[in-house]
Amino acid sequence: SKQASVAHVEENPTSIPAEKNPVVLRIDNIRKSYGDLEVLKGISFDIHQHEVVALLGPSGSGKSTLMRCVNLLEQVNDGQIWLGDTDITDPAIKQDDIRARIGVVFQQFNLFPHMNVLNNVTLAARKVHHWDKNRANERAMELLERIGMGARAKAFPDQLSGGQQQRVAICRALMTNPELLLLDEITSALDPMLVGEVLDMVRELKEQGTTILMATHEMSFAHDAADRVVLLRKGVIAENGTPEEVMDNSQDPQTREFFSHFR
Ligand code: ADP
Ligand code: MG
Repeated sequence: SKQASVAHVEENPTSIPAEKNPVVLRIDNIRKSYGDLEVLKGISFDIHQHEVVALLGPSGSGKSTLMRCVNLLEQVNDGQIWLGDTDITDPAIKQDDIRARIGVVFQQFNLFPHMNVLNNVTLAARKVHHWDKNRANERAMELLERIGMGARAKAFPDQLSGGQQQRVAICRALMTNPELLLLDEITSALDPMLVGEVLDMVRELKEQGTTILMATHEMSFAHDAADRVVLLRKGVIAENGTPEEVMDNSQDPQTREFFSHFR
């Protein structure tokens, strides 16, 4: 009915200021060292439901390390990371359960070359999360069709463009309907002409209300698409604010110098 569709519009998640939504991810004073090198020196910030947060900073500033800690690929040395009500830095945590709640896409090597698209997308759901084949295939086809790639389900990665491969990798990350999507420089290895289709998909996910933490060097995209920008520098958070506050209007000379390279 008309009333129902109006109600639906009013419930559009992206029309609600994100900071009023529940906290999906709370990073609480985390520290991470590799040997003598302390990469993260007490990092704290929150991500609220439906928020898109761009994680920025020079190469080597610890963006990937932070994301690997969130995805439990690295253990923090100190501090806590909360996913909803779950302290995921608790050593007793079931890692596979947490990984079903967090989708991840890396810069490259996301797909197995010897497996077709459908098997790539369904692999973790079937092998790690024990979904039966029908359920996994149905969910995968729904996601692939949504991005116009249903007809390529039987194709192998080398038959796809790099942009298509990354979009398939995003589908795989969305299989278990995760609470949080981590995107670590997912366009950095792509030919420039293929970057747009991947960023368009991220923009669509944002419009659908997906909660996203993305490390990127695509500054104009971060400026347009992010609700908030977190800037890492020398192991600490140098800035945490709206794109306008951080990228256009910071009074910090080092912040201004950093963004001047991207103009
Ligand atoms: P970014 O993603 O911002 O480029 P990284 O998190 O990859 O930064 O790296 C941060 C720092 O940690 C760098 O100095 C890097 O060399 C170092 N580093 C990253 N991973 C490891 C590792 N597995 N062992 C030792 N040092 C590492
Ligand atoms: Mg990195």
